[in-house]
Amino acid sequence: VRTGRAAPSGRDTHCPYCALQCGMTLTPAQDRVPDDGASPPVVVAPREFPTNKGGLCQKGWTSASLLTASDRLTVPLVRDRTVDAGGVVTRGELRPATWDEALGRVAASITAIQAESGRDAVAVFGGGGLTNEKAYALGKLARTVLRTANIDYNGRFCMASAAAGANRAFGADRGLPFPLADLAGAGAVLLLGSNLAETMPPSVQHLAGVRERGGLVVVDPRRSATAALTGPREGPPQGVHLQPVPGTDLVVLLALLHVVWAEGLADDEYLAARASGVEDVRRAVAAWWPERAETVCGVPADDLRRVARLLAAASPARGGRGAYVLTGRGVEQSTQGTATVTAAINLALALGLPGRTGSGYGAITGQGNGQGGREHGQKADQLPGYRKIDDPAARAHVAAVWGVDPASLPGPGRPAVELLRSLGTPGRPRALLVHGSNVLVSAPDATRVAERLDALDLLVVCDLVPSETALRADVVLPVTQWAEEEGTMTSLEGRVIRRRQAVTPPADVRSELWVFAELARRLGSTVPFPLDPAEVFDELARASAGGVADYSGLSHARLDADEAAGGPGLYWPVPSTRPGGEAHPGTPRLFLDRFHTPDGRARMVAVDHVGPSDDLRPDAPVYLVTGRVLQHYQSGAQTRRVADLDRIVPGPFVEMHPILGFRLGIRDGDPVRLTSARGDVRAPARWSDDIRADTVFMPFHWSGAGSVNRITTDATDPVSGMPEFKVCAVAVEPDTGV
Ligand code: SF4
Repeated sequence: VRTGRAAPSGRDTHCPYCALQCGMTLTPAQDRVPDDGASPPVVVAPREFPTNKGGLCQKGWTSASLLTASDRLTVPLVRDRTVDAGGVVTRGELRPATWDEALGRVAASITAIQAESGRDAVAVFGGGGLTNEKAYALGKLARTVLRTANIDYNGRFCMASAAAGANRAFGADRGLPFPLADLAGAGAVLLLGSNLAETMPPSVQHLAGVRERGGLVVVDPRRSATAALTGPREGPPQGVHLQPVPGTDLVVLLALLHVVWAEGLADDEYLAARASGVEDVRRAVAAWWPERAETVCGVPADDLRRVARLLAAASPARGGRGAYVLTGRGVEQSTQGTATVTAAINLALALGLPGRTGSGYGAITGQGNGQGGREHGQKADQLPGYRKIDDPAARAHVAAVWGVDPASLPGPGRPAVELLRSLGTPGRPRALLVHGSNVLVSAPDATRVAERLDALDLLVVCDLVPSETALRADVVLPVTQWAEEEGTMTSLEGRVIRRRQAVTPPADVRSELWVFAELARRLGSTVPFPLDPAEVFDELARASAGGVADYSGLSHARLDADEAAGGPGLYWPVPSTRPGGEAHPGTPRLFLDRFHTPDGRARMVAVDHVGPSDDLRPDAPVYLVTGRVLQHYQSGAQTRRVADLDRIVPGPFVEMHPILGFRLGIRDGDPVRLTSARGDVRAPARWSDDIRADTVFMPFHWSGAGSVNRITTDATDPVSGMPEFKVCAVAVEPDTGV
């Protein structure tokens, strides 16, 4: 059975991909024969929801095809290993197995490895696409059954710098601490390193007003689809596009801050009442006058002044309509990602924006459950409710919910890149359990990651399809996907929403919740792992009670009732009750009265520009930046299997300016080779005058010779542990096939 039958009537749910979580309705495909193994069993229709306002992008429209992927995993797979007399290990091919054999193999291997090498010899790698229930249960499995410190997730590649910056400044990290729809009324929006028009197109509807008012500012080395929203090259501007040298976004922000103070545009009254660290920051930016900044970032000094004045004019202190500063992966995936987010927050604070209705700072979360996925315990340093794992009170609270001794809970583990780097090395993890991640495509310096995975004694992958990482595993476990399961997700605004089942999964496919429970049982644990997602959510809610991300006033039933009554979902924190006993209504806007810091003030922190870890040099004289295209999502493991998307963008390309092409003898469509200190990749050239002439761009959705993460650097931000995907130095040359 490749496809199940659709539910008899339409189910309201959300898109399986990005954090916009567009509303959609799945209805049975009446004109198609169920279970035919080819046609989607349901039809997708957009649904009015506040984030997408009835819109869907191509990925959402075609998402039902995922349910009938021709190579959908439908039975467990195992790989046998043989050892010859000389001790040489030979790995066989993956072959079908029963669940009993596959899980028996996993449990026996884990038991043997931990007995020989200790509990931390087994590591876990989670994903920002898992439902809240699965992310929570995965963290619980790691801490109570495996009792390993080594758990982290792919959000470390995605939101770690934004989270670190927001936690440091505000004491809380909710990507957008306000509803996305609030942007519509703004006088100015500064969007740094986010290509919303390609990554989550329906969100652009919320920028219509600010574009009309000429207040959209986009900072990007490429004239991306989003940068193009600032107006045509020749014609009336609807905003400003700043096109800095890759790796210098921080300098742009330091210069904007300099102008704000130099021209008396700061909101001094707000700063005096609501922020600390102001003078340190003011002193630090004194050295970044626009003309100096221009020599580093390449943005004309006059443009920097113009943008600072535009933002200030829209700020509440000057009687404006309100202004927002928003960051995305373009500025966060950097060795100075946390510093850049901090500078963006400093700018927002200097203008008096955060904690005011109609203004603020926010980060645009990318992965479907990138927000909820970082709140409930699959991060190396975290317990449910966004609690710190080294906080004794947090350990005691969560241990009580789990029914275990707090002393038995492990401490903080290694962040994702460090964890992957350590695999298979002496004294380090010998087994890895991967859930909802395709690290062989998505991790930096991917060739080295492949070598390290091969050095493991046990690699287990839970997935829907045979991703590149699954194909390297010793055990592959087929699990349910979005429309086959119940659960919750948390959108980029911290709105907790329901994911609903619309079709029955193939007969031998299981939910990860069942996998976790079964593994716990086979490993001899008595810690209960409920199978019903609603019951798991109730436990998660209890575990989160009193934490920053407090879900204790929520349940599946309450979320269902809220939606049935026409409610748009509930934003965390949602404590269990308010004074007087009424249900808490949720918190659409954070920080209106105080920030979540001990003294209630936002913390400004002075930061300075250092530059990228892998800068230009004679043998690598061109910047490489990476990113996404509209038709594909993350590692492409899902969207590459959707024929309608694959047809539009079937493979990688190297975007380059014609000036660079002429200089290197590379014409549009010619094969190109990019070489960095880590290796090389090959793809056809795509000429475009939307990119700087010192920079090439490559999307990261593919494996093989065109897998750009084979050449990205695994250098990381010292605060967040986030890798520097967004800039490295490469040589660019015609690909002669050598
Ligand atoms: Fe909406 Fe994102 Fe899905 Fe596109 S991929 S339909 S923007 S949730």
